[in-house]
Amino acid sequence: MNATDLKTIPFNRTHISVNELDYLGEAVRRRSTCGDGPFTRRAAEILEKITGAGQALLTTSCTHALEMSAILLDLQADDEVIMPSFTFMSTANAYALRGAVPVFVDCRPDTLNLDERLIEAAITDRTRAVVVVHYAGIACAMEEIAELCDRHGLTLIEDNAHGLGGSYRGRPLGSFGSMAAQSFHETKNVQCGEGGALLLNDAGLVARAEVIREKGSDRSRFFRGQVDKYRWVDIGSSYLLSDVLASQLTSQLESFHDIQSRRHAVWYRYHEGLADWAIENGVSRPAIPDGCAHPAHLYYLLLPDLENRQAFIGHLRREGVQATFHYQPLHTAPAGARFGRVAPGGCPVAERVADRLVRLPLFADLDETGVARVIDAVQSYEVS
Ligand SMILES: *Cc1c(COP(=O)(O)O)cnc(C)c1O
Repeated sequence: MNATDLKTIPFNRTHISVNELDYLGEAVRRRSTCGDGPFTRRAAEILEKITGAGQALLTTSCTHALEMSAILLDLQADDEVIMPSFTFMSTANAYALRGAVPVFVDCRPDTLNLDERLIEAAITDRTRAVVVVHYAGIACAMEEIAELCDRHGLTLIEDNAHGLGGSYRGRPLGSFGSMAAQSFHETKNVQCGEGGALLLNDAGLVARAEVIREKGSDRSRFFRGQVDKYRWVDIGSSYLLSDVLASQLTSQLESFHDIQSRRHAVWYRYHEGLADWAIENGVSRPAIPDGCAHPAHLYYLLLPDLENRQAFIGHLRREGVQATFHYQPLHTAPAGARFGRVAPGGCPVAERVADRLVRLPLFADLDETGVARVIDAVQSYEVS
């Protein structure tokens, strides 16, 4: 195949769901475009159904939902929050903003998730919470981690940016933590450009979360007629998603089943199509432990080393396929060193996988011809 004759297959391309443009028009024509409008309520309801969460509050991003969780924790300076090093900076930044110390724990070599066996050694008398990230939407060992949090009196929080629609032993991701954060950034399975949600599974947190999301005011209660004026009652910020973006999100969530079945089809074509090549070349494919149903958020391969990873990405680019690496471990980042601390034993697994990982194009509109082209391009690379 002469790749120069073909358009490059992008790493990601947004899917336009059936009602998306109609809903956007409806939201604009309604002439009330601020947050907590009719589409916000519709989107939150669907989200609660998918995740089984007690209450979903739409936010401007997953980053902001995590910031809300940090305020709800009432963190004091030097309190500690345990999290994986192998994650997006927002997971740590949200807690560092409140003066807390992110404590970075290594990941499991099979799922790249927070290694549950290493958490206990990272706990001190300053530890307040554990934040898990279900990498690629493949669940962390939630029974062990929830039990450990219970035993040590720690709050469990899920950064569920990858995990919408995933489950562990039949229970949806986002329903395990007392709080969970979702992302609707352009790169996620369901998107509205920039957006997120805070899921609350502890009813005791809802009233304060509403205040924090509304600039520290009791405006939500005022709109429900529960108070006769709204006032500044707590700290907070401007975390409401515009109803225009919520209209786009509503349509995406209504098409969730369709989006997911398209993404799963691509994921399993890769997984089967690359099995032999992976074995022959010493490349690892994602591991799905028993009891995990994953939402096909991303498809990754672990090449044997950094040199092969870089050569592989270059090879795919020449074949017209845009592939990319992923997280640089936070404990090795400048701000990670400044605001965080690494757990005893360091994070050697995170450091190793960060150098070896490649993500392949995965989006709902990637058709069979495109998938076949990606598989061909991968198979024409020989590990040296
Ligand atoms: C995408 C992502 C975020 C940030 O999401 P935003 O909505 O862009 O703030 C946080 N954590 C993880 C694990 C992510 O993948």
